[in-house]
Amino acid sequence: SEHARVANFGAGPSALPVSVLEEASKGLLNFQGTGIGIAELSHRSKEFQAFVNNMESLIRTQLDVPPTHRILFTQGGGSMQFSAVVLNMLARHRLLHPERAAEDTVLDYVVTGSWSKKAVEEAQRMGGARVNVVVDSRTFSESGKAFDIIPPHDACKFSEDPALIYYCENETVDGVEFSHEDASPASFPFHLLGKNGGLVPLVADYSSSFMCRPIPHLADHAIIYAGAQKNIGPAGLTILIVREDCIVDVDAAAKLGASPVPLTMSYKTLADSGSLYNTPSVLPMYISGLVLERMQRHGGLKHYEETNKRKAEKVYAVLREGQEKGVFKRKVKEGSGSWMNVVFEVVGPDAEKAFLEGAERAGMMGLKGHRSVGGIRVSLYNAVTEPEVDQFVEYAKQFIAERSA
Ligand code: PLP
Repeated sequence: SEHARVANFGAGPSALPVSVLEEASKGLLNFQGTGIGIAELSHRSKEFQAFVNNMESLIRTQLDVPPTHRILFTQGGGSMQFSAVVLNMLARHRLLHPERAAEDTVLDYVVTGSWSKKAVEEAQRMGGARVNVVVDSRTFSESGKAFDIIPPHDACKFSEDPALIYYCENETVDGVEFSHEDASPASFPFHLLGKNGGLVPLVADYSSSFMCRPIPHLADHAIIYAGAQKNIGPAGLTILIVREDCIVDVDAAAKLGASPVPLTMSYKTLADSGSLYNTPSVLPMYISGLVLERMQRHGGLKHYEETNKRKAEKVYAVLREGQEKGVFKRKVKEGSGSWMNVVFEVVGPDAEKAFLEGAERAGMMGLKGHRSVGGIRVSLYNAVTEPEVDQFVEYAKQFIAERSA
């Protein structure tokens, strides 16, 4: 029927909680008793402003964001931040080092997958600095060409005083993620912190793992950003956590030779206007706000961390079983696997097709790997329930039994 829903393991835009969608459909007709639907209501109304303030505090409380950092909302997705972080951090660097030539200005990138590679390519397009790939994890892959491992941190050659140090916490396409098991200051990439004594310009793309568990060393990051469309809400909202010293007067930097920064991309514009410089993505923000409220009611990130850990462990366990039986093949090295996006291959001719078709018949969608790498990808974002994961595991077990019989 038109109301029947399937288990959605898609990588994004991804599943949203049914209770939130039901609540949102009411708000779409009448927001908080105003008599006006949320998509029709002024973003300058006191009701919406209060809603945005509450969203900010829901993020601040759950992620334990310190007062040294601002929480900002914008549009343009993760991809726009590939350029925005470069522009804002180069402006900051210019103000700190007005005399330094562009060829002596360096941006350090840790490349562990398709998305950090894209970020590098955008930084190269932007100009204004030398782009230094401190490590490309493919050189540590057995095949020499796959993004399937988090490299050892002593392999990285960091610059002396970079304008930014960039990493992608969870590589959505490749299913590779930095381990939180040992998130001590000595572990990668956090061993960089305090390196030069000052404020480290550590920038992290958290698009596909934001709000799935606490962020290690959050307070030591310069910028953390994430598109909403994985764990939080619909596409159209981008969330930024920016340390105060990275909110700079981009026009003063431009007078000293930095590239001009479009006003809508300047963190100072966003901060000074309370993220309401221009019309924001009102509807995605509303739905995201409802998700954040629900998260708080359910016990906050501690609850999600526990649930997400169990979900990932269940899927990796059945993967191991399938690998032992020669039916599945893990694509990512042990210890580098993502909680949110589990990737693997189904061994044998047309086996992948059979796996996907069987899953679809059983009401499970979105399992096809990214078009650039193929295979299977099981995305386990917050809204994917544990019973849905159990359903997937049952199906995978059945498939293993049939194939290895
Ligand atoms: N970074 C990561 C880790 C992603 O997963 C994605 C999208 O899936 C992006 C960046 C790009 O985000 P957007 O499509 O919002 O521009």
